[in-house]
Amino acid sequence: MRLIIMGPPGAGKGTQAKFIAEHFKIPAISTGDIFRANVTKGTPLGLEAKRYMDAGDYVPDEVTNLMVRNRIDEPDAEPGFLLDGYPRTLSQVEELDGMIKFTGHQLDAVVVLTVDQDEIVSRLLQRAQVEGRADDTEDVIRRRQELYTEQTEPLIEVYRDRGLLVEVDGMGEVDDVTRRVFAALDVIPQS
Ligand code: AMP
Repeated sequence: MRLIIMGPPGAGKGTQAKFIAEHFKIPAISTGDIFRANVTKGTPLGLEAKRYMDAGDYVPDEVTNLMVRNRIDEPDAEPGFLLDGYPRTLSQVEELDGMIKFTGHQLDAVVVLTVDQDEIVSRLLQRAQVEGRADDTEDVIRRRQELYTEQTEPLIEVYRDRGLLVEVDGMGEVDDVTRRVFAALDVIPQS
């Protein structure tokens, strides 16, 4: 199973990604989490990524693509994976196509969580207090939303054209959203 979860910053991708990945027994691969882990450890990748992340900008494609390539090459991703936060640009879509084709597999579905923009800002500001993320200030949140609209939203049409898109209403309680995701993916939820 090879899946992508998409949606604007604060749509709840990470939360839903965990449930989906658990169900399919595949790793949830979050590029944001990998970058943050590298920032914490102070690796060269972390130092490079931090300046972009702090500004709400995208880390350059070459850096991100290589990181994803290495991650999906790991043995736990052999049966499949769920990508959270990647691809975010058209060039990343092409790179990912190449990576998947190389393994002789194909993408199964792209889940898109649709949410209300105002709701997102308040969710992100709340998260900033709880998690203390450096990229959750109001200006940076706006920058990340702008970039999503400009560079990432167009990917939705690309995947719709390929017949892979699974659109899910991401508003409301976490459990309700999870139920909708599973229903849309045609999965019988495990209690
Ligand atoms: P996230 O946790 O997915 O919101 O990602 C946090 C930050 O990591 C983003 O604002 C970007 O700076 C960086 N990032 C994560 N994924 C990507 C990606 N696919 N392409 C470029 N930058 C990324």
